[in-house]
Amino acid sequence: MAACASGGNATGGDGGGDGDKGLIGVAMPTKSSERWIADGNAVKSQLEEQGFTVDLQYAEDDIPMQVSQIENMITKGAEALIVASIDGTTLTSVLQDAADADIPVIAYDRLIRDTENVNYYASFDNFKVGQQQAWSVLNGLGLVELDGTAIEGAPAGPFNLELFAGSLDDNNAFFFFNGAMDIFQPLIDDGVLVVKSNQTDIEQVATLRWAGEEAQARMEDLLTAQYSDGTVVNAILSPYDGISRGIISALEGSGYTVGEGWPIISGQDAEIDSVKAINSGEQYGTIFKDTRELAAVAVDMAVALLNGEEPETNNTEDYDNGVKVVPSFLLDSAIVVKDNIPALLIDSGYWTEAEING
Ligand code: BGC
Repeated sequence: MAACASGGNATGGDGGGDGDKGLIGVAMPTKSSERWIADGNAVKSQLEEQGFTVDLQYAEDDIPMQVSQIENMITKGAEALIVASIDGTTLTSVLQDAADADIPVIAYDRLIRDTENVNYYASFDNFKVGQQQAWSVLNGLGLVELDGTAIEGAPAGPFNLELFAGSLDDNNAFFFFNGAMDIFQPLIDDGVLVVKSNQTDIEQVATLRWAGEEAQARMEDLLTAQYSDGTVVNAILSPYDGISRGIISALEGSGYTVGEGWPIISGQDAEIDSVKAINSGEQYGTIFKDTRELAAVAVDMAVALLNGEEPETNNTEDYDNGVKVVPSFLLDSAIVVKDNIPALLIDSGYWTEAEING
């Protein structure tokens, strides 16, 4: 079985383990996306290996539920909290309670905003993730290599591009979108890329809670309003695989078929259904962020803090949460396209060949 363990052994509930090093609370946003299940499993098992007991909770994207889960972890005497927030701005009060009880807090993947009481941040280089999403789109259009290097003799366009962003209550959504626009804007200015809808502000293209159905509805509206005159959409920036799947459904419902005239679509997280969609040509690429590595960073941070040591960081500039700059450790991500699925996802043990081809 893949180490990613889609679904796998996530038990949630009261944790388990017979560790005697104390309890650590792990709050995850939702089980509706398999990446968070993989994250939760990886954090839990790595902490248990080190002798901790883990209270792993999922909040099904319900903010009050996440707040009360964290409150409960504090009441149970958690020694540290690892939190992937639903809405990064809603935890101020509960994290004050954590601080009052001297419980250190690690923001997991998503920055927790508007509070003094977040000690460290474990994530990926999220601006770079956005750039990679843009490069994957431009690679599909034949304009650049996967590392962003221009391809000589590339087509001049113009290509019709539409943009999607993530949830505005998630700090990452801004980093991804800004990273992508950093690459796209010069090409939009030069007329190589045309956003026919003119919807280029993050507020116009955001997707609440990263919901695929919401993206599907917006894509249907775009196709009706902008592309019912016979022009085709050539490329779509999607920030997350679940959003990409919503976009694909809208395209299929509007008569697009894979092959000639099918747009280039990006994604993120290397979810299994989307890896299959890359193999079949529905989605062009995704961004692989190894949740096992992220879990290891967060676990190391928690263990260091509990040992009275300073966790390792590699960024102390970019993640200002509105109150302070949170010291961060940022991991690298990689662009996945059809050709490198075996090298990136199978050889690393993230997915098995059977899972991808089955
Ligand atoms: C994560 C992405 C994920 C998205 C939706 C973001 O905060 O960084 O990996 O695709 O949330 O779950």
